[in-house]
Amino acid sequence: MKIFCVGRNYAEHAKELKNEIPAEPVIFLKPKSALLLANTPFYYPDFTNELHYEAELVLRISKNGKYIPESQAGHYFNAITVGIDFTARDVQNELKEKSLPWEKAKAWDCSAVVGKWSDLESSMVRKPLNFSLNLNDECVQKGNSRNMIFSFNRIIADISKYFALNIGDLVFTGTPSGVGECVVGDKLCGYFEEEKVFELDIK
Ligand code: ZN
Repeated sequence: MKIFCVGRNYAEHAKELKNEIPAEPVIFLKPKSALLLANTPFYYPDFTNELHYEAELVLRISKNGKYIPESQAGHYFNAITVGIDFTARDVQNELKEKSLPWEKAKAWDCSAVVGKWSDLESSMVRKPLNFSLNLNDECVQKGNSRNMIFSFNRIIADISKYFALNIGDLVFTGTPSGVGECVVGDKLCGYFEEEKVFELDIK
């Protein structure tokens, strides 16, 4: 199982981190070990002093494929949820400054959280999908798929030019604006449409 992530897929978020709007999707990967398993506690990592949440819509791949045309990409995923692409922002800034790869900031153990899955019918994909994140019962991020720079289908097509997609792979589709810090004792809750899909305590 592979975990693909898209960076800078919402214009407002690219702006808040002072990044350019990309001309093609920014893709990076997290290893399987990055997935926080169900009923496992999340511990604040000791190598960072600036842990950021990034709430994102996550797709689950349902069909193996490579060189998938954008027009066919909708047949390759069938479930969706909200997840968190946890980022050690201080580590990332340091790596970015030196133009180094950013795995140490984003691909560490348990840095990928996913909520409860919903079936995604093709009719749903055409509608704007809402999601949000609460930090200690206050809404800190609100996203809508209609504000993505690159659509689900474009992302799938683009990833599959470089990497084979396999059943069970996950795709984090980018975070909207509002990313920020969390500390030990905080509680994060993710919502897909109106439904709460995860609740996470930072230990
Ligand atoms: Zn992200």
